[in-house]
Amino acid sequence: MAIIDRLQKLREHFDGKEIDGIFISQPENRRYLSGFTGSAGYLLITPQDAILATDFRYIEQSKQQAPDFAVFRVTSDVAEWFPKLLAGVTVSQLGFEASDITFATYRQLTEALAKGKSTVKLVPTEGIVETIRAVKEPEEIDLITQAVRISDRAIEYISDRIRPGMTEIAVAWEIEKFMREQGSESVPFEIIVASGPNAALPHARPSSREIKAGEPIVIDIGARCGGYSSDLSRTLCPGTPADTFRKVYDTVLGAQLAAIAIIREGMTGEEADRLARTVIEEAGYGEAFGHSLGHGVGLATHEAPRLGPKSTTHLATGMVFTVEPGIYLPGWGGVRIEDVVLLEKDRAKVISKAKKIES
Ligand code: ZN
Repeated sequence: MAIIDRLQKLREHFDGKEIDGIFISQPENRRYLSGFTGSAGYLLITPQDAILATDFRYIEQSKQQAPDFAVFRVTSDVAEWFPKLLAGVTVSQLGFEASDITFATYRQLTEALAKGKSTVKLVPTEGIVETIRAVKEPEEIDLITQAVRISDRAIEYISDRIRPGMTEIAVAWEIEKFMREQGSESVPFEIIVASGPNAALPHARPSSREIKAGEPIVIDIGARCGGYSSDLSRTLCPGTPADTFRKVYDTVLGAQLAAIAIIREGMTGEEADRLARTVIEEAGYGEAFGHSLGHGVGLATHEAPRLGPKSTTHLATGMVFTVEPGIYLPGWGGVRIEDVVLLEKDRAKVISKAKKIES
């Protein structure tokens, strides 16, 4: 992991944002830029300095994990440590992460500056580190691939075991156990097992409902390796699927394959989304595809880029994102099929390999 390269990329953004330093608080950004995996702390990065400010619990850990950073110890009194931290560096326009800092923290920081008679100005910024994180390094792609492999195997495992009469909760637990045993560090998000009418809710929670033969079961799972997530959905149908299932499934699969075949570098997230949305609209299910086509996957399960109706982000080589169209019919159920793809020079390469239902 080349921390120095990441810091260099970050510093290149300073001019365009009219800042001469940045105060990082967002947990995945903190980890990405420093290597520090603790759950509390801030980074202060200027053209010359890289400081990790954290509390007493994490001093030793930060020295080990973030050798490129000077470690600064914070206390519970922001008014005491924040001006002191800034006094050690040259900065006048300090960026902060506007979508992460709470209003209460913002007020504490500004009050601390006023109290310390500091002339530093806090400047809101958005998405700077997220933009850098969106393009993955080879080591990151390896970790995502490891996580994807575990979720691939989990789908295979559960496909062989799922039976009518099992509850959604029991199926979710079988999957969770399996993924942990296969080396997943944690479960990055609550597993979704949604059967029958529950499958009409894109983010249903597993319930005590018993699975019935012939109905759709949406399973959405992720594993985590080295901090990196996978995100994979398959829709199963134990028993003989009804005609509605066939039609809906084939439409979703057709939309997904069309999008994956055509997505290229330089397209916007909106254009990518449209590829799948058109197929679903033409089949008469436009209203039933209420979410975006996909999202980036990395240290966070949902990160840049967004592939959705309003996304102006240009897709670039090295981005890793999901392609996950779905159709949800209230009262009946739903179908979602989700793969993780890596955008290469001339194609979107599908990383996930879990089987889909053949038509
Ligand atoms: Zn997803």
